Amino acid sequence: MKKPLHEACLERPLLGDGAMGTQLMIAGLTQGACGEEWNITQPDKVLGIQRRYADAGSDCILTNTFGGSRIMLNRHGDADKVEAINKAAVKIVRDAFGSRDGYVIGDVGPFGGLMEPYGEFTEDQVRQAFTEQAKALIDGGADAIIIETQTSLEELGLGIEAAKAAGAKTIIGSMAYDVTLDGETFRTMMGIDPERAAEFMAENGAHIVALNCGTGMNMQRASEAVKRYKEVCRLPIMAQPNAGQPKLVNMKITYDETPAEMVKGVVPLLEAGANIIGGCCGSTPDHIRAFRGAIDQYLGVKS
Ligand SMILES: [Zn+2]
Repeated sequence: MKKPLHEACLERPLLGDGAMGTQLMIAGLTQGACGEEWNITQPDKVLGIQRRYADAGSDCILTNTFGGSRIMLNRHGDADKVEAINKAAVKIVRDAFGSRDGYVIGDVGPFGGLMEPYGEFTEDQVRQAFTEQAKALIDGGADAIIIETQTSLEELGLGIEAAKAAGAKTIIGSMAYDVTLDGETFRTMMGIDPERAAEFMAENGAHIVALNCGTGMNMQRASEAVKRYKEVCRLPIMAQPNAGQPKLVNMKITYDETPAEMVKGVVPLLEAGANIIGGCCGSTPDHIRAFRGAIDQYLGVKS
């Protein structure tokens, strides 16, 4: 039997995948349309993207389910398709790995609103939405659940609870930090420091502490976050920074770090103690292929 992801990544560092959203846009998804729906309406296009990540050398790939909770899908009139969309997403990643034994990480993104008393959603609604999604992902055969791009501990906690209820063997909590205006430090939009997030995750039963996305969180900042996580917790660490900063070019968002630039941050991240390295917004199969080369070289693997 395959080792759980949080054990496997302690034996050797593993390679994650790159962005999905930007790749879906390149494949023709229009702004504001439901990319998760493609898991059932255009599965070949999703498979094409994830196969490129598998071919680039990813050891673990996230399902195309960032907005796959009932609350998110409801915005596109797809609330009745939660189970179908999430289960299909797991199968697509499995197909992308083909005969390889990769890890399918079921992706749970933010529910996209605020909870009472600040917003219109009750804690119970969010708990139910996350639990329903996590269950579909695990029933579909996902090896792990990642609760990602999180900024509040309340929402993260509900996600971890949902992943536990679904029976996930590995639970990853991933925070999105923003570098402060003075450049001194970084914390989430809701004011959470990495130390507090890591402690919270360890206390609440997550298996891997992670960071992804955010503002100004390049590879170097991600290394700082990894070091700060390590100071307060002993769990494995996953880092998926963006490919630098977003820029508006010809009315399209592009990211300014090429694979050659971004890959320079891979060895520092490994040396900081990262156990799984991937990319978030703007990273492409080419970035991930470059990461594969750097990780293999660091490990002394001949290719
Ligand atoms: Zn991102």
